[in-house]
Amino acid sequence: MGQVVAQNDRLIDEAVERLSERAFAFLELLVAARSDLGREAEAQEVVAAELARLGFDVDRIELPPDVNDLPGAGVSTVPSAGRPVVVGRRSGHGRSLLLNGHVDVVPPNADDLWTAAPFEPVRRDGWLQGRGAGDMKAGFAMATLAVEALLEADPAAIAGPLSFVSVIEEECTGNGTLATAHAGVLADAVVLPECTGLELLLSGIGILWVELELRGRAAHAHTGKGVNAIEAALPLIEALHDLERELNEGAEGGPFVTNVGTFTGGDWQSSVPALATVGVRVGFPPPLTPAEAAERVTAAVGDRARIRFNGFRAEPYALPPDHELARAVARAHESVLGSPPGAMPGTATTDARFYLNQFGVPALCYGPRARDIHGIDEAVELQSIVDGARVLARFVRDWLRP
Ligand SMILES: [Zn+2]
Repeated sequence: MGQVVAQNDRLIDEAVERLSERAFAFLELLVAARSDLGREAEAQEVVAAELARLGFDVDRIELPPDVNDLPGAGVSTVPSAGRPVVVGRRSGHGRSLLLNGHVDVVPPNADDLWTAAPFEPVRRDGWLQGRGAGDMKAGFAMATLAVEALLEADPAAIAGPLSFVSVIEEECTGNGTLATAHAGVLADAVVLPECTGLELLLSGIGILWVELELRGRAAHAHTGKGVNAIEAALPLIEALHDLERELNEGAEGGPFVTNVGTFTGGDWQSSVPALATVGVRVGFPPPLTPAEAAERVTAAVGDRARIRFNGFRAEPYALPPDHELARAVARAHESVLGSPPGAMPGTATTDARFYLNQFGVPALCYGPRARDIHGIDEAVELQSIVDGARVLARFVRDWLRP
């Protein structure tokens, strides 16, 4: 038996190696299909074509109009038409598995600061650079490489149902994943190949998105009169950081970061600005709920600004480290890389939370090694895609074994 498994492992490894260049080319295609919020459709078609090539039955599901009302939903603000979630299914019998990735990427921040155009992938020193290369298009390349290698090396091993979901809005609401789960796309376990540096990521903190609108009173600068909306925002930001300190006090599993991510205001240097808008991400610890976190934010802001909750209302989540799913992925990792995987601290959120919190389905993240995600010159290490695919292929084989 041991010998058979060893031989099977070797066939999988060889197939991963042989097919890796193809997977990198798929990743380049996917990075080049710019997919920030509202324009995910082209990238979704790239994924759909790849899933069809691998023999998945491919469907497209649009977010329902009432998605914001589902328990656990974030607040979607972009119309859902023409931005479907892509679902690939392979039928089978026995224990099932779902792979979940998101094609949406965050904006490039400042194109001029990149060493190459953000949506023109470049390879350099074993890394592939581009917005979304790490978060998380490399995960798609890793997962499709694993599936293709397994189909080549050991087609009978994929006995149980295997599905692949490619979602939108992971970076702002999670509503893509939530909508597909409500549409019945579920399984006995879910793996999300987010870039975790080949570590296990089992948990996430609470995240709330808040937009504050401050109203001042416009005037000519020379009068010394008026009320400056931009300057009024500064003490308000300080108040939110005071709340951040409170939320972090004595809480484990942090830091729970409050980040001012957007700021707009004013339209003329010699005019007192009448309007300023501040977009904030508030991280919060369990056992707080998004509603309780929203109350804390509302109290901190008082009547100094209008508050709009415009994205994440993410609950904290956690998969126990000794769960069968975590142990199975860890076993596959150790069999490839010789030692158990590290544990990545969960100080952000992922779509795994819906499977765990709303549907009682075990879920975790495991994927390649990236650098500067959400930053400048984001990149993924190509070898980590290959190593991760070897791990994932072994895990899929063992999880879906007849
Ligand atoms: Zn991600």
